[in-house]
Amino acid sequence: MGRTFRIKVHTRRFRRRHPRIAFAIRSFVIFSATFGGAFGFITGSRSENSGYDPNAFAIGASFLFALACLGLATLSMRLRFVNKRLRTLAAHNEALIDRNWELKEAEERARSLFEQQGDLIVLRDHQGRITFANDAYCALAGRARNALIGTRFDFDVLEQGESARESSGTRMHDQKIATPVGGRWIAWREGFVRLDAGQGAELQSVGRDVTDRTETERALSEARDQADAANRAKSRFLAMASHEIRTPLNGIIGMGGLLLDTTLTLEQATYARAVKTSGEALMALIEELLDYSKIEAGKLDLELRPFALSTLIEDITELLAPRAQAKNLEIAAYVDERLPLEIVGDAARLRQVLLNLAGNAIKFTASGGVALIVEPGIWPSEISFLVRDTGIGIAPEARSRIFREFEQADERVARTYGGTGLGLAISERIIKRMGGRITLTSEPGQGSTFEIAIPLTASQAGAGQTAFASPDLTGGKSILLIADGIEAALIARRLERWGGQICMVSDAAVAEALLPERSWHAVLIDRALGPDVADRLGEAARTHASQRLVLLTPSSRHEKLSAAFTGFLVKPLRAASLAARLALTPEIVAPDLAPEPPVESTANATTSKGLSVLVAEDNEINALLMRSLLTKLGHSVVLAVHGEAALESWLASASAGTPYDLVLMDIQMPQLDGIEATKRIRAHEAATGGRHTPILALTANTLVEDRYACFEAGMNGFLIKPLDREKLEEALAGLAASRQIAV
Ligand code: ADP
Repeated sequence: MGRTFRIKVHTRRFRRRHPRIAFAIRSFVIFSATFGGAFGFITGSRSENSGYDPNAFAIGASFLFALACLGLATLSMRLRFVNKRLRTLAAHNEALIDRNWELKEAEERARSLFEQQGDLIVLRDHQGRITFANDAYCALAGRARNALIGTRFDFDVLEQGESARESSGTRMHDQKIATPVGGRWIAWREGFVRLDAGQGAELQSVGRDVTDRTETERALSEARDQADAANRAKSRFLAMASHEIRTPLNGIIGMGGLLLDTTLTLEQATYARAVKTSGEALMALIEELLDYSKIEAGKLDLELRPFALSTLIEDITELLAPRAQAKNLEIAAYVDERLPLEIVGDAARLRQVLLNLAGNAIKFTASGGVALIVEPGIWPSEISFLVRDTGIGIAPEARSRIFREFEQADERVARTYGGTGLGLAISERIIKRMGGRITLTSEPGQGSTFEIAIPLTASQAGAGQTAFASPDLTGGKSILLIADGIEAALIARRLERWGGQICMVSDAAVAEALLPERSWHAVLIDRALGPDVADRLGEAARTHASQRLVLLTPSSRHEKLSAAFTGFLVKPLRAASLAARLALTPEIVAPDLAPEPPVESTANATTSKGLSVLVAEDNEINALLMRSLLTKLGHSVVLAVHGEAALESWLASASAGTPYDLVLMDIQMPQLDGIEATKRIRAHEAATGGRHTPILALTANTLVEDRYACFEAGMNGFLIKPLDREKLEEALAGLAASRQIAV
């Protein structure tokens, strides 16, 4: 079958290729057959012994006729079949002609689409000759299409932008080209297209005119750079202006303080206090404005340093305690023991936010108190800081508004309490910058709770350390806490965490009745119940408790206390002091007032030794103020009016063998500034191998870069003006204690 088919195919192909030979063969075969047949018949009929028989002839003729009819019928069938195929072929042919038309039309449309495209389209052969260019390309080139086809025309490139390549191989790049209408920015997309085999690849380039976009982008970027520069200048200006304002203010506040230390009539003292308070209010306002503008300028740089969490919180409570106690309010803090001792973050900024929240809480509270509670947050490594008060509360409609700048909940109330309405706006931005959130819950008339939750990680260095040994109160050690209010509740919570059994009562009569009930490990009595009541309870507790502690406010610290007490604790309580006090064996505690455990009394212990201090300060009033403050604290002071004088004085004292214990160095001074003077001192120390003199910067500039500059120059710490006695005392105490200053 296959073989026959192959033979047929070969024959057909032969016929197609050599039609003349096929015709000759076909004619020859027909002629030979006809001739052969006729010849045979005639020869046969004329032969003598052919035995002609008319019957046989008739039979033969009819047979041949039948054979011819069969041949004709076959031919006719074949003809019909061929006709049918011809009709099919004709229909197919027509369809092909239609399709061809359609294709031609489509090609025409595509070509005119290409030609009329707004984008530039140009095709080049492998030798770079243009094979197609659309109208837009011709228009931009300023030439007719015919004049471009076949040439290697290209625009001159004025500027070349960056180029990138897609995974498909398409190259994208921006170019500024020279055209008869001037320079235009074109964003090109170029790729090679392989044509039929044997021909080289064609380069297709499509370009979009992006001049307007590019120029707008450039203008925007320039405007942004200018705005950045202006912002930087504004920030610098604000820092400068605030420095300039702070310096005289420093004098006003400091001198006011010194004036108040002299003997004044009642009236004079009132005026002097007013001067000092107004100065402090102005200073706070300047600081808030400066801070706000820094945050606005995106200049809020956060430091990441390890710091002790409970120290920070207790410092804040202690700092605010006088303000709270002056309003007869309680203030207390609680740091959950599950939290790491040291965490890494920006302690100064966190302190600023918490001071603002707790300061507001005191400001807007008339009775009750304020609690600062630090607990693990809802996410791992998140810490939640709660500032709770029992104040006037905030109406629901004001709750989101107060976080906006210069907004206050109630104008009328704001007039009574004062303030700028900036504190919460600043706090929220700082917290957001730290990656945290601030939320508020409040009940008008009942109080408010501000909660900040920030991701803070534990410091590696402080891991596993504990701040103090917590006293072992397990095994059912009972403690009677006779007190009321926020702080009492927090003390009870802490004692429970230490394993004690706590009984908290606020009523003296109930407490008296409870005392004989059992033998108490310790009895804590709040003197706020009344001095007489506290003393009476102390006496009553003598036989029932080995430890009898009284809780005092700093103002009642110097009052005479009953001998019934074995010790006292100053409110707001530090957890370490409470732990130290409860861990002491009562027998070795003097029956009268024992001094506070060392944790709380470091501040004044060492200042009496008297340091020799070199103060480099060009401002006369500030220098006078520094001298007075230091002299009052028992130190000897040498003043230098500029960096050069300070350096000379330091060199002289070092070579005389009586080096200074401390240098307080103003940063901005004529001749030689503080940074340069410090560098030279450090260089001299390094060259001679001499003793390292602690140097503290003294400046009103609070920009982070200024701090870095100080540390880079070799300073040990930083004192921000206006300097008050406590800050200075604290820094000096730290210095005397360790000779290694950390402010
Ligand atoms: P300022 O206290 O300087 O006015 P803040 O931004 O700190 O500015 O506070 C904005 C306003 O929010 C305050 O004026 C006050 O109306 C309201 N507010 C803030 N904290 C409290 C609070 N603890 N209790 C009641 N109102 C508060």
